Amino acid sequence: MDELRHLFRRAADHAADYRLSLPERPVGVPVDQAVLNEAFAGPLPDAPTPPERVLAELVAAAEPGLVATAGPRYFGFVVGGASPAATAADMLAAGWDQIAFNAVTSPAAVAAETAAGTWLKELLGIPATASAGFVTGGQAANTAGLAAARHQVLADAGWDVERRGLTGAPAVRVFAGAERHATIDRSLRLLGLGTDALRPVPTGPQGAIDPDALAAALRDAGPGPSIVCLQAGNVNTGACDDLRRACDLVHRHGGWAHVDGAFGLWAAASPATRHLVDGLETADSWACDGHKWLNLPYDTAFAFCARPDVHAAAMSYAAAYLVGSGGAPAGADLTAESSRRARGFAVWAGLRELGRDGVAALVERCCALARRFADGLSAAGFEVVNDVVLNQVLVGFGDDARTDRVVAAVQTDGTCWAGGTTWRGRRLMRISVSNATTTEADVDRSVAAIARLAHGIGGELVH
Ligand SMILES: *Cc1c(COP(=O)(O)O)cnc(C)c1O
Repeated sequence: MDELRHLFRRAADHAADYRLSLPERPVGVPVDQAVLNEAFAGPLPDAPTPPERVLAELVAAAEPGLVATAGPRYFGFVVGGASPAATAADMLAAGWDQIAFNAVTSPAAVAAETAAGTWLKELLGIPATASAGFVTGGQAANTAGLAAARHQVLADAGWDVERRGLTGAPAVRVFAGAERHATIDRSLRLLGLGTDALRPVPTGPQGAIDPDALAAALRDAGPGPSIVCLQAGNVNTGACDDLRRACDLVHRHGGWAHVDGAFGLWAAASPATRHLVDGLETADSWACDGHKWLNLPYDTAFAFCARPDVHAAAMSYAAAYLVGSGGAPAGADLTAESSRRARGFAVWAGLRELGRDGVAALVERCCALARRFADGLSAAGFEVVNDVVLNQVLVGFGDDARTDRVVAAVQTDGTCWAGGTTWRGRRLMRISVSNATTTEADVDRSVAAIARLAHGIGGELVH
């Protein structure tokens, strides 16, 4: 008994020691992957290993290869940290070892998801009657939302896609901004719609869909099953589509409006940015991440659908041995997974920890810090390329080769971490501010490091 307690405490201690080291730890330590692989490799032992020793071996092998994504100066890929209460709740979820399949396998997990789902809809301004599936990421949320879309647009055309599949079905057209996230394409592949179904719609200067172009595309396509993928939060610029106008166009056309708002949907949680996603409540389905801007542990995201019956028709399954189905759709009725980790505990805990005001403050602080980044880097002589409306900043350091060298130098230096991207044919540094623990001092320190490294690299600054 004591051994188990000791083991769990050691694991928690390791996790806490690591978290406490983050503010001063080099952020993206360059590591020799082969050496790291070697530390984990070797033959699977024939004999059992005592748990304490397994834990010590794991910590020793993993430690050099950990990336401080949870820390305050990681600015890559719209990655957030995981808040203290949410992380602790996730440790409990593992300790409790619950199956969030339905209310029979874990009444507590279903209750936590139900309560957290209600709070999420309130915070985001999604109708209270919508369903909320707790999925693994924006990718899975897009797949669930588009599965619901596929169900409905084909049902409207008199085709039961769950029963008959897609062979012989009316063709489904999928309209999406040319700057859509690549996960949309994978969802379409997984759903059998295929990427040839895509009708890319031109976008404006910041990457948001051009509503006039969308109107023209829908008009030219004529009647027939239509799904439109909108976006809140372009991964490069943070730009959001004009959701009110676009959803109106889609619905006049008889189509389904899905919003990929993996991080950008959180603009809704603050009065300062809510206008960016005005009209979001008029969409039919929404994908939103928890593990990005909301600072919840991996892997946490949400698939919302305005029509729970459609959501469940697309995603649920029934089997004779499964009891407890039949009520309002919940748990695994709304996701592609069957047995699932009880991620609702961490979501519930993270939301309580922040409260409504805390979520708004998190969004506002990240936006203000992104602005501070942009101002600091502009003042240092570099070119900020996007309108900094949310938490994303795109920076040029001269020509493409020079920008790539600056990005590489920043990643090797370890003061902070930012990725590179190609935006409108140009290589740029992409900075995402999404961590609740990032301070003004972290931004200033990062700006100073980037400026020092960029000035240290030869070549022309001016584009
Ligand atoms: C991150 C992101 C995704 C994918 O989300 P995952 O959580 O990585 O699955 C999809 N769309 C957008 C706009 C994103 O930013």
